[in-house]
Amino acid sequence: MSDLTIARSVKLSPIVDVAERLGVSPDEIEPYGRYAAKLPLWLSAPDAPRRGKLILVSAMTPTPAGEGKTTATIGLTDALNRIGRRAVAVLREPSLGPVFGLKGGATGGGRAQVAPMDFINLHFTGDFAAVTAAHNLLAAVVDNDLHQRKSTHGLDLTSVRWKRVLDVNDRALRQIVVGLGGRTNGLPRESGFDITAASEVMAAMCLCDSLAHLKEKLGGIFVGRTQDKRPLYARDFNVHGAMTALLRDALKPNLAQTLEGNPAIIHLGPFANIAQGTNSVIATRAGLRLSDYVVTEAGFGFDLGGEKFLHIKCRTSGLAPAVVVLVATVRGLKYQGGAALEALHEPDLAALERGFDNLEKHLENVRRFGLEPVVAINRFTSDTSAELDWVQARCTAMGTASAISEAWAYGGAGAETLAHEVVAAVERATGHWQPLYALTDPIERKIETVATHIYGASDVRFLSKARADLRLIAELGLTQLPICIAKTQKSFSDDPTRLGRPRDFTLTIREVEIAAGAGFVIPIAGDLVRMPGLPAVPASERIDIDAEGNITGLS
Ligand code: ADP
Ligand code: MG
Repeated sequence: MSDLTIARSVKLSPIVDVAERLGVSPDEIEPYGRYAAKLPLWLSAPDAPRRGKLILVSAMTPTPAGEGKTTATIGLTDALNRIGRRAVAVLREPSLGPVFGLKGGATGGGRAQVAPMDFINLHFTGDFAAVTAAHNLLAAVVDNDLHQRKSTHGLDLTSVRWKRVLDVNDRALRQIVVGLGGRTNGLPRESGFDITAASEVMAAMCLCDSLAHLKEKLGGIFVGRTQDKRPLYARDFNVHGAMTALLRDALKPNLAQTLEGNPAIIHLGPFANIAQGTNSVIATRAGLRLSDYVVTEAGFGFDLGGEKFLHIKCRTSGLAPAVVVLVATVRGLKYQGGAALEALHEPDLAALERGFDNLEKHLENVRRFGLEPVVAINRFTSDTSAELDWVQARCTAMGTASAISEAWAYGGAGAETLAHEVVAAVERATGHWQPLYALTDPIERKIETVATHIYGASDVRFLSKARADLRLIAELGLTQLPICIAKTQKSFSDDPTRLGRPRDFTLTIREVEIAAGAGFVIPIAGDLVRMPGLPAVPASERIDIDAEGNITGLS
């Protein structure tokens, strides 16, 4: 049965009932249809009481299909509720890029899904449209400024770094020339598009505390420099107020539900390869205020999602996870051990053993931060007991708790063992973690620390563009910002073909983008681009709708 068929077979609760289960009364929410609602911002005030424990779900290095973090996050939330704990899932909002691209939606799978999945995967409450509009408003204002030749700014058009965004994978827009067609069409200059998930506006929303804080952050977006090298920020164009006005409703977290009727808060922030990649601080805080356990997700692997979750999100907001659940699959381990994608359903203990190296490195990384990992083995029907037993025995030998999750097949009932392991780990947890780099370290050193300690690189090479960017960052006085490395999710290294646990490699930093408003800089490793492309057969070819409005083909 497809994910969509399973999702449609479940009778959902009206959203007011889901809110009431969280202790939020019907007049405090703003319903978007029957099954989704916006939660009020006051729930997320930084000084509001928080009672919940934060559980971060991340993963080993994934296969192209994903290892099941969202599925495990939802399954664990349902399982915690089944064993009598109050738990809420706090997830990232799906991007249309993967929905129509290779990977599909981001609402979980099988019996562990959030619903209504077609609504959530396709536009949901319109947050990404608002982010796109706010981002592109600044772009339009900047190009208009160049066209009007406003003497007040004297913006040097070659220095403009602000691009446009779109929430569709579209490789043809990566590098473009804007302003063609004569005088009235603006000034021609090179520019490009990133995907909306990579927008600095998205990151500013994810990391802010309130509307006022968001406006301040958006005002701090670096646009470019004047002819005499003076930096210009969005506030110099007096556009940050209008941008924030566009985002008023998008900043409120969305409430939906799991197929078992448990609350799920879904808000912003996907793509930890090219962005900070975790849902909003506002959503996480709402969960921590309303529930005893908050299960949240950051990926792709812990090297990207986990590192950024801690160094960027937790450090700027003061949040701290109690435990980290690392999702692993027998398929993923075999893939990391060199088995072909088409052969992952066949038993192959030798590949499994080789691929365990990858999980071992992720487990070491979790411990480097002073956190305790729990391994969730997401069971696929093709897994054999011999393979599952072997993985569990290896985890035990390493002193790591593990549990098999069958949430995809059985919902919360399939993840109760995992829930018990997680509760026990939460009870053992200290509530403290330590960062691997200090904010006062030079940017180069921060990059070297993450590259060598988390990725396992032997050194870092900075290309000349990256060196020029680092000089500009120093001139702008931004060296105290954390880093948000953009790197392939397919490998610890910047080479997507190096699987397992690569050693003795150099991480190449091509350029360093500035996200002064969001509050980080973005070193870009290897060939990664921040606007994905569509595969040869995009998922959009499977997606359709009938005359009654029933959508098919979403997964
Ligand atoms: P991630 O969040 O790590 O990217 P997802 O939870 O979105 O991964 O899962 C990726 C895909 O794999 C989804 O289509 C999901 O339905 C499917 N999937 C996850 N777990 C299982 C499983 N145990 N068996 C079969 N399919 C699964
Ligand atoms: Mg996911």
